[in-house]
Formats: sequence, structure tokens, C-alpha cells
Amino acid sequence: MGMKININKHIYDPEDAAVPVLDRGFLYGDSVYEVLRTYKGRLFAVKRHINRLCNSAARIALKIPDPSEILDQVKITMAAAGNEESYVRIIVTRGTGPITLDPFTAENPLTVILVKRFVEFEKKQYEEGISLLVPNVRRNSRYALDPAIKSGNYLNSILALEEAKSMGYDDALMLDINGRITEATTSNVFIVDENGVLCTPKLQTGILEGVTRGFILDLAERLGLDCLEKDLFPEDLEKAREVMLTSTLREVMSVTRIDGRKIADGRPGPVSKLIREKFRQFAMELIEKESQDKADNDHHGKVD
Ligand code: PLP
Repeated sequence: MGMKININKHIYDPEDAAVPVLDRGFLYGDSVYEVLRTYKGRLFAVKRHINRLCNSAARIALKIPDPSEILDQVKITMAAAGNEESYVRIIVTRGTGPITLDPFTAENPLTVILVKRFVEFEKKQYEEGISLLVPNVRRNSRYALDPAIKSGNYLNSILALEEAKSMGYDDALMLDINGRITEATTSNVFIVDENGVLCTPKLQTGILEGVTRGFILDLAERLGLDCLEKDLFPEDLEKAREVMLTSTLREVMSVTRIDGRKIADGRPGPVSKLIREKFRQFAMELIEKESQDKADNDHHGKVD
């Protein structure tokens, strides 16, 4: 029980797991990754995560192993770790080569699969909501290092989180260079605006296309909620009735304070609660369906 690390198909305990110092993931963050979790012991939304991994890799011209091979190794590693619920991180680096930026000098990608026990976020954070800082650091431009690529280079988010944490906030909500809201350091953001419309930044803003974000957009449609992907600015946060973050690990978490100001009455609102509840319900249903080999068969984002 606990953590197991699979490096190029060999499984290690964490204290024995090591990658070469000349690995480009270590030297340059020249890698892509995904984080998945299980519900009822089964991997959630595997196809979407694997598709995103492949897309990220293609965007940086990194040849990754066959997805079915990666998935086989994920399952073997999960079995070795033996946890009831798992956190699964898949990392593929461009591998080792001479010390040069030239990506064509490395030939063999390195695949690391880290499996550990999934630990829920604190209940208190769901019940009371969390606080965000809009930091000075701006989100990378999609024309520089596109946030749609889930690469191992998270320094932009780390700098934002450093600002937020050092000022006592739970997380950072970054603006792009034009002042539009993008996303938090490891989550997408939704707001309920002053008219009760659920809004989230467009993909074109330069954000990661969150798996959870996609599910929530589908769910909102199914629930008949007014929902828009649009440009959002800090003024929209001031007027918002509700703000929430979404991610694989957090699911749906309310934000109740931003830059020291309360959102509405400073308590998680009804829409966030409804979406969180419906998302969990949906996750359980999807897991059941997937285990019957019926669901998520290349549905391309459809919740049906
Ligand atoms: N945005 C960023 C920058 C992230 O790192 C993540 C987490 O992976 C997300 C959004 C949320 O994505 P998902 O819902 O696929 O976990």
C-alpha cells in the first residue's frame, strides 16, 4: 500500500526511483504530463486524459509511447501500489541527451508513472470556500508557451502561487497580458455573474482545456443552466455571485474571497453546490458505465 513509481516499465518504491540528471525533463522541463484519479478504484475519464497527453506531446513534437502501452503500465503500477483510491501521474520526458537545448539530440523518451493514495482535499475547504489572489505574474501567452500544452514546465504557475501563498492566499487566479482572467495554478475557473449566468474563460484566452471544465460545461447544458464561454475581467469577479475552481483533484470548489474581498456573502453559493453535487453524481455514473464497457467510447465530450 502506498506509492509506487514506474520508470520505463520497471516498478520502484519511491526511495529507489531515480531518473538521470541529464534527462531533459529535469534539465529543461522538456516533458508532458497528466494527472488522473480513480473513483471506486477505477480510472476516471481515461480517454480524455490520454488524448490530452497525446495532444500535449504532439504540440512539443515529442514522440510518446503507444497510449495502450502506457495504460497497461498504469494498471500494473496501480495494482502494485494497492490503494483503494489512486492518484496517477503520467510523465513523459524527451529523455536524455547531451547538454544542449536542441530537441533532436535526445532519442528515447522516458515514461514515469507515479501512483499514490488519493487523498481528498480538506472538507473545510469545500464547506467554507477558498481564497484567491490575482497575482502580478501574468499567465503565459498562448503565443509563447501555450497553457493548452500540459508540459512539465510549471514555473509560470509556481511564480503565481508563490505570490499568493506568501500573502496568505490559498491559490492564484492569473490574468493574461491583456487583463483577461485565465485560470488558477492547477484549476479552471467558473463564475456565476450578476445575472445568474455561469461563465468561464474561452479556450482562446490561453488556458488548459480542463477535463473537469469540459464535463461541467456539458452538465450545465443538461441541467438547463445558462452558460457562456466568454472573456472575463477582474470587474466580473467583483460583481460575481459565485466563483468556483474545477480540476480532476478538486472537482468543484467554491472560492469565497478574492484579493481580500468577499464574493457575495462570503459563503459557497447554491450553483457551486449544485454543480459539485451533480458532478460527483455524474462521475459515479460514468465510472459504472465505463466499467460495463459502454461509456466514454469516443464520445468527444458528450455527457449522455
Ligand atoms: N488548469 C491547469 C493549469 C491545470 O494544471 C489543471 C490541472 O490539471 C487544470 C486547469 C484542470 O484540469 P483538469 O480538470 O483536466 O484536471
